[in-house]
Amino acid sequence: MNFLKPDKGSGAEEHSKMFPPSGSKRWMLCPGSAELCKDLPDTSGPAAKEGTLLHAFCEKNVKLRVNELPVNYKSLDEKLAPQAELALDMVYNLCQENKAVIVGIEIWGSVPGLEEICGTADLVLWSSATKEIFVVDYKFGFREVIASNNSQLRIYSLIAIPIMRKEAVEHVTMCIIQPKVHETKPSIETVLISELNEWRDVELAPIYKGISDMSLSSILVPGEEQCQWCKAKVENCSKMDSNVSSVLDNDEVGDKDLGERLSLVPLLRGWCKAVEAEAMSQLEDGQEVTDHKLIRKRANRAWVDPVKTDKWLAARKIKLQDRTTSKIIGIPAAEKMVKTLGLSKKLNNAFERLIHKPEGKLSYARADDPRQEVVVESVEDALNKSYDFTDLI
Ligand code: SF4
Repeated sequence: MNFLKPDKGSGAEEHSKMFPPSGSKRWMLCPGSAELCKDLPDTSGPAAKEGTLLHAFCEKNVKLRVNELPVNYKSLDEKLAPQAELALDMVYNLCQENKAVIVGIEIWGSVPGLEEICGTADLVLWSSATKEIFVVDYKFGFREVIASNNSQLRIYSLIAIPIMRKEAVEHVTMCIIQPKVHETKPSIETVLISELNEWRDVELAPIYKGISDMSLSSILVPGEEQCQWCKAKVENCSKMDSNVSSVLDNDEVGDKDLGERLSLVPLLRGWCKAVEAEAMSQLEDGQEVTDHKLIRKRANRAWVDPVKTDKWLAARKIKLQDRTTSKIIGIPAAEKMVKTLGLSKKLNNAFERLIHKPEGKLSYARADDPRQEVVVESVEDALNKSYDFTDLI
């Protein structure tokens, strides 16, 4: 197999910074973010480091697992080992169930015809029985990622298909292997090659081409989804700045529609979180942040050894009921136990009556939210109803 390799002289790495498949949801919704984010450093917290370690482990060991050879999970931290095991088991099952073989691990390449969109697919499998390639992306976070309509996986698929140059690939199955969420079954979407090519031409190509043809400010498109993970939002995005100002500008409160302001709140909330995270990261790195300093929060005290403490208090003649507390179990736990008792309808109803379900607190949602609207009568309407003014005429 001939895999494309990054060519440092051709600007491939620069392009991969501008159009990383992992950020495709962001730059497809806000094309201007491609330019703004390309030189901003990635923040690499503990979760990102764990993900990198697990990716490297899977890359190194996936062939062993698929060929039923021993894998040394003990080389990983005991917290990470179960995740690696679940991930590799899912790959093994995919191969078994589909008579598939590994044809590529960590495949670098670019989307044919859109060379600046490039990246690395974690794993590619091939089933000659079904003329199908499987493009696998490992995810090791808690936030669920699904394969359906996933632009990152679609880009990896477009990158991976050319490696099967001698085979007539008919469809591609895209798989997210995410042990913390799916445990045993990957999230999967299968599409025909023609559908994938249509997606490239209709959805991907126009965005990518529009970036070079239009002014930056006209292609900055703020929105909750794209701004949430955008590195540019703290200091680099003029659109985000003007949104923040439009919410904060008190002089103009009277002129602005409250609903419009409310729509900007999720963006503003995301911006606040990102500003706090950036300030914290700079302070933790020993840098200065004007008018602010690093402090340590007050920690909750805890018994060093609760059993030893209990004995110590008992020896001082403090009675059991005075030195311990007991609390009734929660409703879900009780429901689970009651279910196993096989009670009569009457007793089940009696149990239901023990539960108080208060009305939920009032909140607000966008007008197209599927939940039922709570209609509240205005004071004016209520007054009009309680007096029949015709009597007074
Ligand atoms: S903060 Fe939002 S509007 Fe600004 S570049 Fe990022 S995604 Fe686009």
